[in-house]
Amino acid sequence: MLFRDDDISVHTPLDEFERVHSLFIQAGKLHTIGILAKDIWRNCSLWNYLLTAPYLEWALHGWQHERHERVEDVKAALALLNSRVTPGANGVRTCLACTPQPVIPVRYFFPPFNDLSVELGAFCSRNNLIVDSTFGESPQCFAFHYWEVNLYPVVHSQLCQLLGVYNAA
Ligand SMILES: [Zn+2]
Repeated sequence: MLFRDDDISVHTPLDEFERVHSLFIQAGKLHTIGILAKDIWRNCSLWNYLLTAPYLEWALHGWQHERHERVEDVKAALALLNSRVTPGANGVRTCLACTPQPVIPVRYFFPPFNDLSVELGAFCSRNNLIVDSTFGESPQCFAFHYWEVNLYPVVHSQLCQLLGVYNAA
């Protein structure tokens, strides 16, 4: 089963994300996160956590969650996620990729609003990205947002049950 968690971005608070991800660590199951790449490295605590936490798979959700984003922006997003090199000040780039975790190359593109343009479809084919536009509709995929797990006990229970972990909430 694919556990798909969308909208991880520069605005994602680490503590809220970590509360959800700890369930995956406990279960020993892969947590696939749909990342919005724009400026995400500027949320240093989150970025460092994403670079080093186990049981995380990075997927591409886009540059900044616009419908039919420009191919150049999505290309930059994919390059960032695959290189894991942090863009630095004054053009200096810092490499924080010395992670003990095996890096899984980006396999998925989750189009914002489940709406894929022809150009982005072609881009995904060229880059061997699997497009998943079935948010919440495929029985092989549990799709959610980390904040829903924290906010709604019913979503939390559902996730815990699927992961086979103790439901502490
Ligand atoms: Zn989204």
